[in-house]
Amino acid sequence: MIDFTFTEEQEMFRKAAREVAENQIAPHVAEMEKTGKVSMEVVKALGEAEMMALTIPEAYGGLELGYTARLIALEEIARVSVATAMMLQVFALGIEPIVKFGNDEQKEKYLPGLAAGERLATVGVTEATGGSDPTAARTTYKKDGNDYIINGRKCFITNSHIADTITVLAKDEENPKVFSTFIVEKETEGFKPTHEEHKVGMRGCNTGELSLENCRVPAGSLLGVEGKGLAVAMAAIGDVGRGGMVGCALGLQTACLEAAIKFANERVLYGKPIMKLQTIQNKIAEMKVDLEAGRLLGYRAAAIQDSGKRSSNEFSVAKYFTTEAAQKAAKMAADIHGGYGCMEEFAVTRYLRDSFVLGPSAGTSDIMKVIIARWAIS
Ligand SMILES: Cc1cc2nc3c(=O)[nH]c(=O)nc-3n(C[C@H](O)[C@H](O)[C@H](O)COP(=O)(O)OP(=O)(O)OC[C@H]3O[C@@H](n4cnc5c(N)ncnc54)[C@H](O)[C@@H]3O)c2cc1C
Repeated sequence: MIDFTFTEEQEMFRKAAREVAENQIAPHVAEMEKTGKVSMEVVKALGEAEMMALTIPEAYGGLELGYTARLIALEEIARVSVATAMMLQVFALGIEPIVKFGNDEQKEKYLPGLAAGERLATVGVTEATGGSDPTAARTTYKKDGNDYIINGRKCFITNSHIADTITVLAKDEENPKVFSTFIVEKETEGFKPTHEEHKVGMRGCNTGELSLENCRVPAGSLLGVEGKGLAVAMAAIGDVGRGGMVGCALGLQTACLEAAIKFANERVLYGKPIMKLQTIQNKIAEMKVDLEAGRLLGYRAAAIQDSGKRSSNEFSVAKYFTTEAAQKAAKMAADIHGGYGCMEEFAVTRYLRDSFVLGPSAGTSDIMKVIIARWAIS
């Protein structure tokens, strides 16, 4: 028997997340749009609401609420600010490898501060050589006494300039087929955030480059088993990264639907609201179908993740479907606004720009289809 309802606790959690989004994030959206900068007040509010602690075990200061709760939180936050949801989702992407692959010492050292929002996290995998093929990455490490020395550059890294704890994927300088993952702290000599991107959307979420130049980290920074770095990075991106993008997309779909309904009820043509026009209702219906289907895909994958099983295939389907649906919803919502859909005073223009950025993050739609096809024919 399958129960498709949320528990009472989950409904209460959704209400609490919505309150945080509407009361503490929404007032900063205009400023983030204008400056393109992260609002540290928003980061503080997320920390106080324990949003960084959701998937961290209680033993390390977390809430251990699981991945369904995380999806609920991201959906509610993205409904108000996709940029903030993206920032939050990548904090978790930096945290997850430590939760899943860290030893006790690493967990004790990093997780309490990350759970409290005192330190912020990210993950550095992508390089200019192409995010779809991480094996082409050029960042290297070599053993030097009890330390490792890392050299390379990472690009398109979310939270690049605000993160304190960075999970970095690098290849063995002497054996380029061997990858390992390291925890690098921002204070490490030789580590530096460099270029900051100016994205078309998700303004207020920081994206940029990281430079690692003779960056010396102690042996205790190795995350998981040496040589298994690709598995560490991909496990985090496959489940938590794609799951996070689903939350961002679902929230954006909801925002588009709500904005479209509001405008269609208010805009009067031919003496009546345009909502009375069947063509407008058809668009609303399509947006609603996509949202309902996306939620089923996303929450099913999160339920599998909560049961402790791998959910990367299910999240690939959900990520593909919801991010494409969010782009479609944003276009339809802007279309329903007529000429106003081109004017920046209307939130739908932000939704349109944000929807575009959902695509490549945590793997493009093409890559999702590669994974989905592999799953289907296996
Ligand atoms: C806003 C944002 C935030 C990001 N945050 C992070 C982060 O925090 N950490 C991180 O490590 N990375 C991050 N990324 C990087 C992201 O994961 C990559 O952009 C993504 O994996 C695509 O890599 P690429 O941009 O190099 O494109 P490429 O890999 O160069 O792809 C170019 C084109 O080729 C297509 N393609 C590639 N391979 C195939 C294939 N096998 N079959 C069919 N088509 C294919 C792609 O779909 C795409 O259309 C972020 C990206 C964005 C835009």
